[in-house]
Amino acid sequence: MTATVLAVDVGGTKFAAALVDADGSIRARATVPTPSTRDAGVVADALRGLVDKVASHSAAGELSSVGIGSAGPVDPVAGTVSPVNIPAWRDFDLVGAVGRSVPDRPIVLAGDGHCMALGEYWRGGFTTRAMLGIVVSTGIGGGLVINGRIFTGPTGNAGHIGHMSVDVAGELCPCGGRGCVETLASGPAMVRWALAHGWLEGHPCDARGLAHDARAGHPVAEEAFARAADALATAIVSAAALIDLDDVVIGGGVAAAGDVLFLPLRKAIDARAGLGFVRRTRVHASPLGADAGLLGAAALALDAAPSAELLRPPTSMDYQTKG
Ligand SMILES: [Zn+2]
Repeated sequence: MTATVLAVDVGGTKFAAALVDADGSIRARATVPTPSTRDAGVVADALRGLVDKVASHSAAGELSSVGIGSAGPVDPVAGTVSPVNIPAWRDFDLVGAVGRSVPDRPIVLAGDGHCMALGEYWRGGFTTRAMLGIVVSTGIGGGLVINGRIFTGPTGNAGHIGHMSVDVAGELCPCGGRGCVETLASGPAMVRWALAHGWLEGHPCDARGLAHDARAGHPVAEEAFARAADALATAIVSAAALIDLDDVVIGGGVAAAGDVLFLPLRKAIDARAGLGFVRRTRVHASPLGADAGLLGAAALALDAAPSAELLRPPTSMDYQTKG
């Protein structure tokens, strides 16, 4: 029997869900914008509507398990999430909410950065021993795949590279820290800085508009990307020194800007990396793009699927499964 799983990706900008087969092929999918409200129930209803819609494309009894990747922090043991960029949800029972739509199936919850890294490792062609995945979007998340396994950390939150401090005197971060990468290199942080430094009104006021103008040579837009690249490079070089990374894979909406981010990023890494083992770390744009998170969530679900022992992705997880 071939396993089919439901993969769910919960982000500050959008929710996505898909039916994924054991070979990683995506059969049905849908997305919905994340409601910007403080009403937890409204946000939950949007997610459940999406899950119901995608699950309706599966045959009765076909779904073997569910994998959820969510913006963090997450509590994989309790099944709850408190995403920094979804203020309506604090200690929100995400596993319970999805379980009401897809009852009696094992459900695994992980951080979105973990899912992105695992998805890239599984379907993006990475086989090396130490990989860091980074999602640069509304927020900045990440995940470590070490010896083919996600390194979760004791609370399930290892890899939060967006909240590594790279500026000791930097601005306060919504997480409570100071000078976090996210305060310099997330899409909203870049746009905020650019607007305060003379980026002209009349452009689409988001990271995509900023990337467009950086490509056209607007100096403030270019500087916003250079600043973000510097912050990311500082964190990447520090992480490489700590963990001895083979590969860093960068995805997310801001990374989709391409060369306007990656050219200054490579330059900044080259300027900051000193030790030979740090200099050997390779930096890649995400091969899977927006699908990495869903595929990683699917890999977790396949690993938890009772019928999928012979079809597992090349990883096994520490995550606890509910259901
Ligand atoms: Zn922070």
